[in-house]
Amino acid sequence: MEVVLAEKYGFCAGVRVADKLVRIAAAKGQTGAILGQVVHNESVEREMADLGFPTVHRLEEAREHEGRIVFSAHGVAPSVREEAAALGLAAIDTTCKFVTDIHREIGRSLDDGCFIAVLGQEGHREVIGYTKDLDPSRYGVFYTLDEVAAFPWESHPRVKVVFQTTLNAEGFAEHVAEMRRRVPDLRVADTICYATKENQDALRALCADPSIDAIVVIGGQHSKNTKELVKIAKESKPTVFVGTAADLRPESFAGMRKVGVTAGASTPDYDVEAVLARLRAMG
Ligand code: SF4
Repeated sequence: MEVVLAEKYGFCAGVRVADKLVRIAAAKGQTGAILGQVVHNESVEREMADLGFPTVHRLEEAREHEGRIVFSAHGVAPSVREEAAALGLAAIDTTCKFVTDIHREIGRSLDDGCFIAVLGQEGHREVIGYTKDLDPSRYGVFYTLDEVAAFPWESHPRVKVVFQTTLNAEGFAEHVAEMRRRVPDLRVADTICYATKENQDALRALCADPSIDAIVVIGGQHSKNTKELVKIAKESKPTVFVGTAADLRPESFAGMRKVGVTAGASTPDYDVEAVLARLRAMG
């Protein structure tokens, strides 16, 4: 069985930086706690814990880990930074530059009198970071077209749209069109991350290859961008979604001659290499 890797896959620049900053701290002999997974990937989470940086879900828990807290690439609301400082915690901030840019964009647009429409998932950490400290009357989070259609846009003549970085742009064009019909002054910031787009485009190229029998997508169960890859792959090919090489079942590939492989933006290279090696061994 031939195995073809997508032209672009796996760790994005933001995640590489986050991963590196934690490793640098560990190499200096520091320990700490990571607020939520540093990236949405179970292998990386286990490895970080082994390096002395376990995942925690409350700032207070960092007190048991040298009083050091890591903010993930998803970013946090300003009030979370203030709370950490008030608790006397030292922070390692690995917020991705693109996420920081969106925080700034939202701040500028609010000053400009805009209502903020975040296209994304209400409970996603990146979205929580953008909205946690905002006045609820100044923003809305929308994911389905029905949510957009049901909203009283008439009361918001000036609106700024920002996107959760990991969304599939094509799935939200209709949302923007609906707002455009109803909002006189609609401003759209294309904040979807290039890394996500590149991984998606490279996967589409694999899917367009008629000689490929199936696609393997590698990534964490909670990774939004990995799930988007799964969704794209499923539209045209049988798709196998795995966290690590250990999840691969030979029977899933019975009779196949060629398999394409991609990985989410939070999937480490060693997981990709292990999957490639196991698939090739199956062949
Ligand atoms: S996917 Fe994009 S926005 Fe998210 S961490 Fe990576 S580079 Fe940053």
